[in-house]
Amino acid sequence: MTDWQVGTVPTALGFIDNRLLRAGIETDPDGAAREAEGGLVVVIAGEQAILARRGEGATAFLPSPPAALGPVLDRLILGRLDGRPIMAQLHAAEGAAALADDPEHVALDLRSVAVQGAVPADEMGALAQAKAFFFWHGRHRFCGVCGSPTVSRCAGIRRDCTGCGAQHFPRTDPVTIMLVVRGDHCLLGRQARFVPNSYSCLAGFVSPGETIEAAVRRETLEESGIEVGRVTYLASQPWPFPASLMIGCLGEALTDAIVLDREELEDARWFSRDEVAAMLERRHPDGLITPPPMAIANHLMRLWTTGEARFA
Ligand SMILES: [Zn+2]
Repeated sequence: MTDWQVGTVPTALGFIDNRLLRAGIETDPDGAAREAEGGLVVVIAGEQAILARRGEGATAFLPSPPAALGPVLDRLILGRLDGRPIMAQLHAAEGAAALADDPEHVALDLRSVAVQGAVPADEMGALAQAKAFFFWHGRHRFCGVCGSPTVSRCAGIRRDCTGCGAQHFPRTDPVTIMLVVRGDHCLLGRQARFVPNSYSCLAGFVSPGETIEAAVRRETLEESGIEVGRVTYLASQPWPFPASLMIGCLGEALTDAIVLDREELEDARWFSRDEVAAMLERRHPDGLITPPPMAIANHLMRLWTTGEARFA
């Protein structure tokens, strides 16, 4: 739906707020039993969240999913909210398309939900949780040990192998995202796929057996040739594209000569604190911008321009 917009653009990080008491020992993913308890359902169709319109905005917690979505492909329990069970169910992408003329529901990809603030901030975490879980289930249908089919257990928090009995647990992929600073300047880069004029923090996956600090230093060196000394953790953000955890850090540059990895970055350069403040406020003289407030890169830059980001 292209006409879907809500009035207020959020200024807070997306996906960090989740009021659910997560499912730990739930064993029954049966929808009928849960609905009898006043359960609500988070619905994902393909890559899109199905939201129920509510006043000017919408909610991700549906009392009953629209029938037009078609068959349920997967179902799990996310947890409880104020005592009510919160389930999640997955439908095919075509299900979202079937809602085009539905006045009560809307299908929206999760990035847009976050950018537009389409649902209350404290529902965003549950959407990220549901999408990441379904992604994991969809890609772990067979055992990595013996190749036999696996089945969902404990209402979706585990998959057990039907052949060798191995238990498989959901994975989250840690990604370091770092604002590397040197005095009154910080290092920002852009990838060719970024929106025009947008610069962001460098980022990269943590490698197995690596600390967060080592990942910050290695990724920065690989992408920009800059050596990093001190590293301080600032904040984290679930990033359900598809199942990452962004770990936001401040890094102290020890060198200043940039050597670009052209495979990763189209450009990287040093920006003054004033310049970053102008980019955040969309008043940079060259039209340069930052990622939106829902992204952790924006948050890290903002903390640095206000002096709140410091080394421990
Ligand atoms: Zn197996």
